[in-house]
Amino acid sequence: MNFPLLGINDPFFHALQTLGYKGPTKVQAAVIPLIFNREDLRVQSKTGSGKTAAYALPILQRQSERPASAVRTVSTLILVPTRELASQVSVTMKQFARALPGELKVTAVYGGVKINPQMMALRGGADVVIATPGRLLDLVSSNALKLGKVDTLVLDEADKMVNADFKAELDAIIALLPRQRQTVMMSATFPPEVDLLCDALLNTPKTVEV
Ligand code: AMP
Repeated sequence: MNFPLLGINDPFFHALQTLGYKGPTKVQAAVIPLIFNREDLRVQSKTGSGKTAAYALPILQRQSERPASAVRTVSTLILVPTRELASQVSVTMKQFARALPGELKVTAVYGGVKINPQMMALRGGADVVIATPGRLLDLVSSNALKLGKVDTLVLDEADKMVNADFKAELDAIIALLPRQRQTVMMSATFPPEVDLLCDALLNTPKTVEV
């Protein structure tokens, strides 16, 4: 298998090679075409499997191929449980975004640091927002960002976002999103609580286990 056969375009493929991504990992080979196909997904994958690129590559390529609009609105939301994961995903996605045309703006927001710089960073909008749930809700309450145009939602490490606090925050966030969207659930394990979340959020999903 190779990236072009999965739907990755030639210029992006060449850029990926220079970043050291010669060929897809198993999870990437399975997930990339399904994301391009706009399927809802339930993906069992561990850290180290290349799970971030599995969703980041097709989402960013698709976004770069859209006609530019006058106003930048959040179309992809990636929810993560920790600030560490938020920064990690942000570094990876920014690296990919730089290799694509269209000057995609990727912004990470997370708790445990001052909110003001994040509000400033969101001025002028963003195409992709990577967020921990609590901070995202704070920023929405402050009108620093709007979620009404999100068409792609990813929950990364979903098994770490099913405790009661996260569950309440997730419910509040989901209520702000359009119902018509693609939702991708990435998790190392699928205990009953995560399956319940899948039932609530996914529409006739495809399952990927690698
Ligand atoms: P992740 O599972 O997303 O945390 O990724 C684990 C590591 O593998 C990261 O350092 C990635 O940069 C790297 N990686 C992911 N996919 C590939 C690939 N197809 N080829 C080479 N390295 C990769």
